[in-house]
Amino acid sequence: MTAQLIDGNALAKKIRAEVSGRTEALKARGVQPALAVIMVGDDPASEVYTRHKVNDSTETGLAATLERYPADMTEAALLARIRTLNADAAVHGILVQLPIPKHMDTAKVIETISPAKDVDGFHIASAGALMVGQPGFWPCTPYGCMKMLESIGYELRGKNAVVIGRSNIVGKPMAMMLLAKDATVTICHSRTRDLKAFTLQADLVVAAVGKRNVLTADMVKPGAVVIDVGMNRNDEGKLCGDVDFSGVKEVAGWITPVPGGVGPMTRAMLLVNTLEAAERASSPR
Ligand code: NAP
Repeated sequence: MTAQLIDGNALAKKIRAEVSGRTEALKARGVQPALAVIMVGDDPASEVYTRHKVNDSTETGLAATLERYPADMTEAALLARIRTLNADAAVHGILVQLPIPKHMDTAKVIETISPAKDVDGFHIASAGALMVGQPGFWPCTPYGCMKMLESIGYELRGKNAVVIGRSNIVGKPMAMMLLAKDATVTICHSRTRDLKAFTLQADLVVAAVGKRNVLTADMVKPGAVVIDVGMNRNDEGKLCGDVDFSGVKEVAGWITPVPGGVGPMTRAMLLVNTLEAAERASSPR
């Protein structure tokens, strides 16, 4: 059996086109959706990510600014800048690129962002809203995974879903989103005994670990849907996921590739969240 591919690039393109259309409609009402991206320090990966975020935004008609600060910026100065952006009605989304320098308290920085502008969905209010099923911003990566499942018309109700990984930004919110769609969800992690026993029962596996070959063909139920969030490098230095793609694609029913799977969807969902923030801020209450 060869799995069908869930093409993240194609789906992200479609979503970006939808964002462009909705952005035009907002602009026609005099609202320019705007994202502020803050980067502290000069982490090379963050450089790439923030550049993508700004370019993706401007390409879809959103206004985006990148504010760069030196690694020795004080925490107080960063919090003050966030508060200024919180109060600026022309800014709808605020994103602080992580990681930030070690002398800063990441949780405190994230909690300073107004929940109404928390387009990364990392604020504790966003996490709480997701937990209790209230409107809020969903973290972009699991949100993108949900869109991928939606794109193949996958009915989650009653399905066994296994999420491997329990981080606050991927694993846990992913599990909450699947639960909200009536899947029976198991969260596995580094202390899980016999991971294979869980994954073999799963109709859907989401791997969000950060280690190559966490999921191999012998661990997958025939026909299962496999979503690979992981981003790793193989021995040749090429980008790869957590899933042994060549083996698992012979067993799974659907699979996401790396690259070209969850990555582009994560980028697209940031645009959706930013647009949504602008729509909410500008709609009459
Ligand atoms: P993280 O915070 O490091 O969490 C990794 C999780 O994997 C932890 O819960 C850990 O368990 C679990 N784990 C580690 N080894 C394991 C094993 N052998 N078996 C089962 N579980 C294991 O990472 P993250 O931020 O969630 O990111 C996960 C991966 O997704 C990374 O590769 C990251 O680069 C990638 N990612 C990709 C995107 C994208 O857009 N494509 C976005 C975000 C993240 P413990 O909790 O017990 O330590």
